[in-house]
Amino acid sequence: MSRTTRTAADTMGADRAEIEIRGLHKSFGDNHVLRGIDLDVARGEVVCVIGPSGSGKSTLLRCVNLLEEPSGGRVFVGGTELTDPDVDIDAARRRIGMVFQQFNLFPHVSVTANLTLPQRRVLGRDKAEAAAVARENLERVGLAAKADAYPAQLSGGQQQRVAIARALSMGPEVMLFDEPTSALDPELVGEVLSVMRVLAGEGMTMMVVTHEMSFAREVADRVVFMDGGVIVEQGPAEQVVTRPTQERTRDFLNRVL
Ligand code: ADP
Ligand code: MG
Repeated sequence: MSRTTRTAADTMGADRAEIEIRGLHKSFGDNHVLRGIDLDVARGEVVCVIGPSGSGKSTLLRCVNLLEEPSGGRVFVGGTELTDPDVDIDAARRRIGMVFQQFNLFPHVSVTANLTLPQRRVLGRDKAEAAAVARENLERVGLAAKADAYPAQLSGGQQQRVAIARALSMGPEVMLFDEPTSALDPELVGEVLSVMRVLAGEGMTMMVVTHEMSFAREVADRVVFMDGGVIVEQGPAEQVVTRPTQERTRDFLNRVL
């Protein structure tokens, strides 16, 4: 598109990354965990974040949806600055789905209720609409048959797929995954990665903290290697995983591969 045909809307949003992280710092007391992170994630892009334990990966994701308050820097999602003190943080957060290592399902209610309660409470959807959205998303993760089951009756892989369906039911523009398969028995990892692969294929914008290097190579558009609270190296997944340029990345990959 030429400069002259640009509309105001283009200038305001179309060229911006879906997630923009600028000069992000986070300290816990005198533990300076994030030390200046700059990262853009384009709409529809899948970015995998890798790095040693304690390097700040979870803190980075948690700062992106303000589960942790950054100590410095700015975070934008969909062009809205989440770090703006005047932002409607609840509204902004609704754009962001998050899936954790521990699935965090409500244990005392059915799978369907796990998906409908947040929609009703947070989005104010009526019962019928919430149920329809729940059904659609359970189908999406291949668990329509488990709608009436309780979490404890499901395998870990199924529970994590429910957690993904629950996040999707809120209609997020962005999905953040923090080691979604790390708590699973090895034979259950594949079913969760398959669901994530489908989501990526549908064009969901995703940030995924993972140790699954084959998933990163196959699905990620970009791999970011973090160590000591900084991004040490990033690039196309295949390049970072098979031909890293930095010593620290090579050391890490030698340990995990
Ligand atoms: P990673 O996910 O890469 O393993 P984390 O982001 O979980 O790393 O942790 C990075 C550092 O921040 C660690 O030193 C951890 O102890 C510290 N940290 C994380 N969350 C908190 C918290 N809520 N309070 C205090 N320290 C924290
Ligand atoms: Mg972590």
